[in-house]
Amino acid sequence: MYDVIIIGAGPGGMTAAIYTQRANLKTMMIEKSSPGGYMVDTFEIENYPGVGKVTGFELSEKMFTHTQELGVEYQYGDVNGIVDKETHKEVHTQDGKVFKAKAVIIGSGTKPRKVGAANEDKFQSKGISFCAVCDGAFFKNKEVIVLGGGNSAIDEAIYLTSMNVKVTVVNILDSLQAHKGTVEKAQKNDMIDFKLGYEVTSFNGSDKLESVTLKNVHSDETEEFKTDGVFVFIGQIPNTSFIQDLGITNQQGYIKANALMETGLPGIYAIGDVIEKELRQIVTATADGAIAAQNVAKYIENLEN
Ligand SMILES: Cc1cc2nc3c(=O)[nH]c(=O)nc-3n(C[C@H](O)[C@H](O)[C@H](O)COP(=O)(O)OP(=O)(O)OC[C@H]3O[C@@H](n4cnc5c(N)ncnc54)[C@H](O)[C@@H]3O)c2cc1C
Repeated sequence: MYDVIIIGAGPGGMTAAIYTQRANLKTMMIEKSSPGGYMVDTFEIENYPGVGKVTGFELSEKMFTHTQELGVEYQYGDVNGIVDKETHKEVHTQDGKVFKAKAVIIGSGTKPRKVGAANEDKFQSKGISFCAVCDGAFFKNKEVIVLGGGNSAIDEAIYLTSMNVKVTVVNILDSLQAHKGTVEKAQKNDMIDFKLGYEVTSFNGSDKLESVTLKNVHSDETEEFKTDGVFVFIGQIPNTSFIQDLGITNQQGYIKANALMETGLPGIYAIGDVIEKELRQIVTATADGAIAAQNVAKYIENLEN
């Protein structure tokens, strides 16, 4: 029996683990991919206090090393269910393991939203990517589309040009939603073109992606646009399919948590990008992790009393 199991080793989960371990709680952190969450796939982070400009990989490594130096137990596992036994919780994994804990902290984050256009699955990893850091180098001296107009899309478009990739930003809206400074930086970059007010309706090619069909959202006219790749940054959806039966999510699937990071179920806490919130950033995920850990410690103390 663990005191607390933390699901997801993103910045939220790793911070929670640091705090619970330091509070002498028997802590286990379980992760289905590699530690770091979204940070691992982020080229550069410039807004996490105290570290200046840092690669996402480096910050992930630093946070994970911190958890390991404190002795946090780390397990690989894809969690597919939580059973609330009231006095304790069971965490079930895809490969049939069951772990028990007095409390659970869910920090499972989000995954990229898909486009919903024809042939999307066929060209997954054959031209369609959700990660510029992972796949950008394959497109050196080539031309790609970056789909989306928010901060992630424009930041990643700028990053791709640093690898000599020519980018056309395609956005369904007539404007870009990214911060003004970021947009200005992109507009001054002569390796970036813009096609605003367009959506992708189909991915085309034989073995690998060769073009997309673009539809003008005002006139409905379509055109075939040749491209070597498409990087998709059109938002996120929460990783909560494994807890749908618990009744702690909102209509969009985000977990409802209060200021103490408590969900509607005693002993089950949620943190970071997976919860209903205004600002999804590393610094807000780490803050949530610390708050949840503090309240888990109080919860367990009360449970034992
Ligand atoms: C392209 C991009 C760039 C960004 N750039 C910045 C930036 O510069 N600065 C900034 O502050 N923020 C940035 N962000 C946002 C930031 O990365 C997130 O807010 C932050 O990573 C959220 O942390 P988290 O711990 O809540 O979740 P995540 O980082 O998403 O981690 C969740 C972890 O849970 C794991 N997991 C999910 N489901 C399960 C399961 N069933 N079982 C086991 N493990 C599971 C996942 O594999 C993942 O490792 C960026 C985001 C994106 C998409």
